[in-house]
Amino acid sequence: MEDLHRLTGTEILSGIRSRQISATEAARSCLDRIDSVDPTLQAFRTVLRQEALDRAGSVDRDLARGTDPGPLAGLPLAVKDVICLAGHPTTCGSRILRDFVPGFDATVIDRLRRAGAVFVGKTNMDEFAMGSSTENSGYERTRNPWDLERVPGGSSGGSAAAVAADLVPVSLGSDTGGSIRQPAAFCGLPGLKTTYGRVSRFGLVAFASSLDQIGPIGKCVEDLARLLAVIAGQDPRDSTSSLAPVPDYVGTLRRGIAGLRVGVPKEYFPPGLDAEIGAAVRRSLDRMAGLGATVKDISLPHTDYAIPTYYILATAEASSNLARYDGARYGRREPGARELGEMYRRSRSGGFGAEVKRRIMLGTFVLSSGYYDAYYLKAQKARTLLKQDFDRAFGEVDLIVTPTTPTAAFRFGEKTEDPLEMYLSDVFTATMNLAGVPALSLPCGVTRQGLPIGLQIVGPPFGEADVLRAGAALESDLGFRSLHRPRALER
Ligand code: GLN
Repeated sequence: MEDLHRLTGTEILSGIRSRQISATEAARSCLDRIDSVDPTLQAFRTVLRQEALDRAGSVDRDLARGTDPGPLAGLPLAVKDVICLAGHPTTCGSRILRDFVPGFDATVIDRLRRAGAVFVGKTNMDEFAMGSSTENSGYERTRNPWDLERVPGGSSGGSAAAVAADLVPVSLGSDTGGSIRQPAAFCGLPGLKTTYGRVSRFGLVAFASSLDQIGPIGKCVEDLARLLAVIAGQDPRDSTSSLAPVPDYVGTLRRGIAGLRVGVPKEYFPPGLDAEIGAAVRRSLDRMAGLGATVKDISLPHTDYAIPTYYILATAEASSNLARYDGARYGRREPGARELGEMYRRSRSGGFGAEVKRRIMLGTFVLSSGYYDAYYLKAQKARTLLKQDFDRAFGEVDLIVTPTTPTAAFRFGEKTEDPLEMYLSDVFTATMNLAGVPALSLPCGVTRQGLPIGLQIVGPPFGEADVLRAGAALESDLGFRSLHRPRALER
């Protein structure tokens, strides 16, 4: 099949299952496309060429023998370089982990492997998932396939760019304050942040443990449902993973949204909101109403506190999580030190980039005695208020719809000089991590310049099934994928 790389994950799966294409052909088409496009795009940190072909071969042998290789048989997949895959480098986009090779698989990897998925490579990201543009990577500069002079978003920029440019049909990202949804929005794709506790984080390198979640990016909502069905569920190796039963995300996808109550929080449509983004989201809300949903105005009154609260708690947790990189156990040790303190200093000074150092300093400051009450404790209280906003809202509506980002993809360098500007990229997404609720970003239109716009569908804790079915209904109504696609790499 000529245009194999254009297919969605769901289409590839059914092609393999019906033996119209082989898993090996699917893997090869990804590897060929990576060879031709990735030197420009730079979405991948590592390509697992041999491993992918071996795995695909074994799926094909299973299918020929009549053995069921699992629900994701032969599906090529890319993994953000913050998730451990045994025997392959896991750099987290950081120089300090340049040579780190984990000896074990993350639980999500283990589950995907058993389901028959084929890992094609590890994708570039902002160092330790800190950033909104992938410009904080200690390695390549990943481009946006819709406009090569613009960022793909971050921190899962490599995972989003790889899918948008048809290098792989689906990928995994991680989301601490928006890192799946914002790059998905910038690259014109659906991406899902799951409920806190829905997906095991065993083997995910920690950034801010009370916020981090792993989730899928794909070409259609059904791709996300299929991946989530495999990775969701309790894991004895992650005590924060929930015992809540895993519903049938794929089976309930076609239920439509008739009868669902959709809330539109006024705080997410401020007067200064980009007019094109506001208009695209409002148009989509009209479509949802046309499909039978009831749309009503609501309020999430503490929204203004989301960004300061997020940047206090995330940096506090990061400063503690990143203390483990000391040159003694993981990754890089700077040579030439005469005593222990000097070894720590040299290894950390040389291994971490500027943004990571900034966050460690901020986090250490807000946790220090004398400032703890004023910042960290206050932020925890604000977090509770933000969470209560959602609890109250979900008493009157089933879902909440907002824009995903305040602007479409920006240019390289546009926000690197001013970290605060960069932090404001998360203004509509970080709240959902603080509240622990699931949120889907769905492409809903393009700007006059032809850049994708994303909207966000938010549900109550463990409400992924409703979030996904609302997303699937709106997706087929809007027809984004058949109307728009990135063309910057075609020239
Ligand atoms: N952009 C946010 C930050 O820099 C979110 C990152 C993330 O979700 N990992 O912290």
